[in-house]
Formats: sequence, C-alpha cells, structure tokens
Amino acid sequence: MKIELASSYGFCYGVKRAIEIAEKHENSFTYGPLIHNKDEINRLKDSFNIGLVEKIEEIKNDNTVVIRTHGIPKDELAVLKKQKNRIINATCPYVTTPQNIVEKMSNEEYSIVIFGDKNHPEIKGVVSYAKKQNDVFIVLDKEELKELPLKSKVALVSQTTKKPEDFLKIVNALILTQKEVRVFNTICNATFENQDAAAELAKKADIMIIIGGKHSSNTKMLHSISQKDCPDSYLIENESELKKEWFENKRLCGISAGASTPDWIVQNVINSIQEIER
Ligand code: SF4
Repeated sequence: MKIELASSYGFCYGVKRAIEIAEKHENSFTYGPLIHNKDEINRLKDSFNIGLVEKIEEIKNDNTVVIRTHGIPKDELAVLKKQKNRIINATCPYVTTPQNIVEKMSNEEYSIVIFGDKNHPEIKGVVSYAKKQNDVFIVLDKEELKELPLKSKVALVSQTTKKPEDFLKIVNALILTQKEVRVFNTICNATFENQDAAAELAKKADIMIIIGGKHSSNTKMLHSISQKDCPDSYLIENESELKKEWFENKRLCGISAGASTPDWIVQNVINSIQEIER
C-alpha cells in the first residue's frame, strides 16, 4: 500500500507561533489548552515545564500565564492582569481580529452577529468583546436570525474555521432584512489550504487517516470533507488508535492532519502504518 501525505497539512501559522512563544517561557502556565492537541501539550509540559490550568481560580498571583491560540474572554484577561500575573499573549492574530472588530462595532452601536459555535473557546472570547452582551448574537444557521431583536445596523463576523459558503448564507439573509450590514470576513485561509488538499487526496485514496485532536473543529472538518469522497476516513489522535483491519485490501492511504497536529505525531502515524503493512 502506498502512503501519500496531503500537499498541505498540519500546523498553521497561529499554532506554530503559539508554540514558539510558549517554548520561550519555560516554567509557565497556559490557561486552557494552548492548542487542541493533548500530545503536544504533554510535550510542552515534559520539555519546558509549561503547565495547564483549566480554572482561573487555580492560577495564583505572580505567575507567567500564556494565553492560548484561541484567546480567552476579556473579563478573564482582566482578572489575570489584576492578579499581577505576567501575561504572554499567544492568541492567534487572526482570532484577535474578530475580537477587535466586535469591540469597535459594538462601541459604534451596531448589533453584532457572530457566525460560529457558542461553545467554542474562540467564540467565547470573541463574544466577550461586545459592549452590550444583550446585543450580540451567535448563530449557526440563517433560520436563527429570524427570531433575533437586531437593530437596523448589524456587524457580522465569523468563527475563523467556518466555511465561506455557509458564512455567505448568513450574509445573504441579513442583507435582505437589515438596513445596514457590515460584513467582516474573519475566516482563516490556513484552514482551507489543508481542507482543499485533503479533499483532493480523498478523491483518489482508498483510506484516509486524519490526525488531530477529537475536539479540534478544523480536524473534524477535515474528517467530514474526506468522508465525502473516501468513506473509509478515520479521525485519530495518534498512532495508538490505528487498526490493522482498516488497511486490508487498500492500495492508497491518504494522510492529513489538523492545524494543531505536530509533525512528530504525523511521522509516528506513518511509521506505525508502515509497521502494520509489514
Ligand atoms: S487556523 Fe487560522 S485562526 Fe486558527 S490558529 Fe491557525 S492561523 Fe490562527
């Protein structure tokens, strides 16, 4: 069986940057996982003593706190600063952009619509930058817009990992009902480069292995894109989840990895698949 890597896969700019920033701050903490990949988080702990704290109450004064790639809510950032912690902000600049837009447009009295998943850490951070929390609305579907008490002027941003065609459905629906719609395309291209490459490879592969965190939106998206053309697509976090029977009678195994997946995990998976084949 041949193994082929997608022409674009793995770490994006924001994740590479966050890891480089974290590695320069040994003996620190991240509040929430720096990126959506447990193995990489463990490596940072073992090699750089960078701990992970899930609850803000657990962070005591005078620590170095690295802010994760997806950002954190504004009020939590204020609490960390008040505690006299040293804040190292590793929020991806493409996530800081919608935070700043929401703050600015909200100050200009626009209703804010965010196309995204309200439970995603990035969106929890972005929404917190609105001046009035009762004038910011998170939607996943244009149908949800019908019930919203929007002002006549609306500003719209998207979660960075969403698909442009789905964002456009929200844009089109809003334009038909509101007097003024300011659309900010905050979707990140890094995700699409990996998605397009995975889709291309899935067309010819008999099996696709997508490597990444089970909670990572962009990894899940790669998996669903691959499944369209290659039903035998599997999402795994690392090589321990591979199953021998998946590869029986397969000729081409395509591999892609989410934006939070380090190269060393991809290489471990490739080595294990080659072992299985022997
Ligand atoms: S996918 Fe885009 S927005 Fe998300 S961390 Fe990477 S570069 Fe930043």
